[in-house]
Amino acid sequence: MSSGNSGKRALVTGGAGFIGSHLVDRLVEEGFSVAIVDNLATGRQQNVNTNAQLYVTDIAGPSLAEVFAQVRPHVVFHLAAQASVTRSMEQPMEDAVTNVVGAVNLLDQCRQHGIDRFVYSSTGGALYGEPETLPCAEDHPIKPLSVYGASKHAVEGYLRVFSQQAGFPFTILRYGNVYGPRQDPHGEAGVIAIFTRRMLDGKEVVIYGDGEQERDFVYVGDVVDANMRALEQDTGRSDIYNIGTGQGTSINAVFAHLTEATGYARAPVYAPARPGEVHRIYLDATKAHDGLGWTPTVGLPEGIERTVKEIGPTQASGC
Ligand code: NAD
Repeated sequence: MSSGNSGKRALVTGGAGFIGSHLVDRLVEEGFSVAIVDNLATGRQQNVNTNAQLYVTDIAGPSLAEVFAQVRPHVVFHLAAQASVTRSMEQPMEDAVTNVVGAVNLLDQCRQHGIDRFVYSSTGGALYGEPETLPCAEDHPIKPLSVYGASKHAVEGYLRVFSQQAGFPFTILRYGNVYGPRQDPHGEAGVIAIFTRRMLDGKEVVIYGDGEQERDFVYVGDVVDANMRALEQDTGRSDIYNIGTGQGTSINAVFAHLTEATGYARAPVYAPARPGEVHRIYLDATKAHDGLGWTPTVGLPEGIERTVKEIGPTQASGC
């Protein structure tokens, strides 16, 4: 399978980050020549596959043109983003510069150079607002509650325009709450990574709100698989897919799973809910099943076990 991709060049923005670095590993394994654009805002050099070429560059800056001229990618996976809901509410301009201006800069390069496909990592969790129906399908009204949800959705609109104008097809993947190894436990976005790190360190764990808010937790390996399947779509076909499990899990339930996996003995501390957060969401991924042949394969208990193992004391002390 890998030899079929030899000579194919993939550009992954955000490839030093959590999801992007796993995608890069898979692309390298499948024989792609991989370039990464990442300014290391939240990404880490140590995540980067040694067989990939890292350009430490801002997607919103002029040097992106030089990267495109050198790399001349066939496919572009766009994952670079300001990915925190909380930060987007506190720093909306910063969010817009990376998530909107950066994406338009990237799309402009794709238009100028011509590519075979653009795969965009969008959000299912922050786009639909408080859902009217659950599980939430792709045709649900778009009513984001956060600046982050609004900026991620704005790019879906830009992508359609650039795609029509320049003639390249796209795949939009709207993820649930992605979790797994390499997620930054010090960041804002990954509740499982944050709880795991704090539990292993014996520190207080804070749950915002009553903990009954539900999310659709999807394992990073399954998300990578959806990205790879996007490349196998019929040439010329553009579409949008939810990538989730169809099941909601409360934060209290995640806490319980994690206490079991880590041996944590303390009770959680509850704090007021944070602005911009949806109460209950999980995604209908039937379309991804039918259109991409995608289905999630790693359940929450197994995914949590893998994550705890990787974040665990042995690995952490080596950092
Ligand atoms: P992450 O923060 O680990 O990765 C984002 C990467 O983008 C980082 O490596 C960061 O350094 C890089 N980056 C940020 N600003 C940049 C800029 N201006 N120029 C170049 N690089 C920049 O986050 P992640 O969880 O891996 O998210 C990846 C993508 O998936 C994002 O687009 C995010 O919106 C989307 N997404 C994530 C989730 C989730 O649950 N993690 C859910 C839905 C959608």
